[in-house]
Amino acid sequence: MVKARPQPSSERVRLRFRRQKTRDTRPEMALRRELFRRGMRYRVNYPVPGLPRRTIDITFPRQRLAIFVDGCFWHGCPIHGVPPKANAEWWREKIDRNRVRDSETTQLLTEHAWRVLRVWEHDVRNNLLVVAGSVEQALSDLVSPKAASQPIPNRKGGL
Ligand SMILES: [Zn+2]
Repeated sequence: MVKARPQPSSERVRLRFRRQKTRDTRPEMALRRELFRRGMRYRVNYPVPGLPRRTIDITFPRQRLAIFVDGCFWHGCPIHGVPPKANAEWWREKIDRNRVRDSETTQLLTEHAWRVLRVWEHDVRNNLLVVAGSVEQALSDLVSPKAASQPIPNRKGGL
C-alpha cells in the first residue's frame, strides 16, 4: 500500500519541496537552450519506447540518443540527495524507487540500441558547457560512426 505523502514539518521544508520540480527544471532548460544555440534540434519529454508513461528529458529520436537531467533531490544524487530529517524514511523509500526506475529505463533503452546519457542537475548548474559538449560529442559519434575512418564500401544501398 502506498503511504500518503506526509505533511511538511515546517514552512522551510514546505518551500524546499515546492522548489523540487520534476520537469522543465531550470538546469534542464539551460541545457536545452545551450544545445539549441549550438544548432542541435531535439524533442522534449519524448515517451520511452515501450513505456509511454515515462519520458526522456531531451531526445534525438533518429539517432536514438536519450539525455536525462536527473534532479539531485528526486534522483538521490550522492552530494545533494539528502532527504529532510522529518519523514526521512518515507522520502528515502521514494527516492530509492525513483533510482530503481531510472536504471530500469536506462536498461530498457540500452536494450533497444539507444545511447543513454544521464547527467546530474548539479553538473548542468556547475559545468553547463562541458555537459553540452558531451551531448554534442555523443551526437556526432552517432551521426558519423567509426566508419569515418574506414573506406566507404563500394556498393549501392548502404547497410
Ligand atoms: Zn547534486
